[in-house]
Amino acid sequence: MDKDMDKYQQDTVAIRSGYQRTHENEHAEAMFLTSSYVFESAEMAAKYFSNELQGNVYSRYTNPTVRSFEQRLAAMEEGEQCVATASGMAAALSVIMALLQSGDHVVCSQDVFGSTRVMMDKYITKFGVAVTYVPLADLDAWQKAIQPNTKMLFCETPSNPLSEIADLEALAAISKKAGTTFVVDNCFCTPVLQKPLNWGADIVVHSATKYIDGQGRCLGGAVVGNSELMEQVVGFLRAAGPTMSPFNAWVFLKGLETLRIRMQAHSANAAELATWLNAHPKVSKVFYAGLEDHPGHALAKKQQSDFGGVVSFVVEGGRESAWRVIDNTKMLSLTANLGDAKTTIVHPATTTHGRLSDEARAAAGISDGLIRIAVGLEDIIDIKADLELGLGAL
Ligand SMILES: *Cc1c(COP(=O)(O)O)cnc(C)c1O
Repeated sequence: MDKDMDKYQQDTVAIRSGYQRTHENEHAEAMFLTSSYVFESAEMAAKYFSNELQGNVYSRYTNPTVRSFEQRLAAMEEGEQCVATASGMAAALSVIMALLQSGDHVVCSQDVFGSTRVMMDKYITKFGVAVTYVPLADLDAWQKAIQPNTKMLFCETPSNPLSEIADLEALAAISKKAGTTFVVDNCFCTPVLQKPLNWGADIVVHSATKYIDGQGRCLGGAVVGNSELMEQVVGFLRAAGPTMSPFNAWVFLKGLETLRIRMQAHSANAAELATWLNAHPKVSKVFYAGLEDHPGHALAKKQQSDFGGVVSFVVEGGRESAWRVIDNTKMLSLTANLGDAKTTIVHPATTTHGRLSDEARAAAGISDGLIRIAVGLEDIIDIKADLELGLGAL
């Protein structure tokens, strides 16, 4: 990498780091769509295979385009090393497979992404790793859940869809004292709004599918952390293969260049929408950490540079009302995806959180009247007008 990178500001790092021009003098980053690489001689091949020489052998191990994305994201998260994965779930899986073994125990925030929970409950436990779930913002509960065999704390902040906030600095201190690895899913904030490693987290996982792409095109993920931990994660990925495709890496690499201005625009639109919903007569409650009366507001203000793009709200009349609002909007996309330039709307109780039992859903605070909006980059006037079509139908 460019050795001057250390002295550049964050916006410059997001645009200039991680890439070296080839002899073709291309200006945009080239994309290397190749599964393997040729060797200069049989002797050289032997040296690459025995690790006597470092170089490209096969794209499950290394690919120049994927490496560019990894280096740029590592620089943005201010982490030592990054490895890209096929999806956000592949990132979480790789961390768990690389760092845990049978007999270990994980403490996890209860409202993590739905598939993270399914992965833990249905698959990880199958290999003798136990999981305890705790409320994200309850530090006492985290402390009390730690057992002698606890090896990992795993959280996602802000939470989906209620925007609860974890105290990263406090959780890092609990983790350090217990000698565990503290993993943070930073998908909702991205390094632009929050850098968990700087608050003491050991590992950051990402779904690049969301804001890093930002236009809903590709699936991908990443893991960032210190080299010692990352070597273990890289080892698992190379052996097991849930790696990122070079095409997707190229899309994400370009996504990083505009990530800051997009996150600021998502946050500005979301803040305006949350304020508008808060004053709306048909809305009984709004969940957005940017609102001053949100319980996580002060903490979010401390550890995030803005509040992000996800806003949830409750309408009276439960599921029937929520569905009526959703079905009467015209422009908003009815889809569970988020982090897109296009605003999305979804009914969590019957989609993203539909697999939970009624009790688990109630414990997570997902009521039947709850609607989640992932605010996009359209003009806020049109987003509000479209939502007014839905709310006006109540
Ligand atoms: C989407 C998402 C994931 C999973 O990412 P995929 O790319 O869909 O595998 C993990 N965590 C959070 C917070 C997400 O929103």
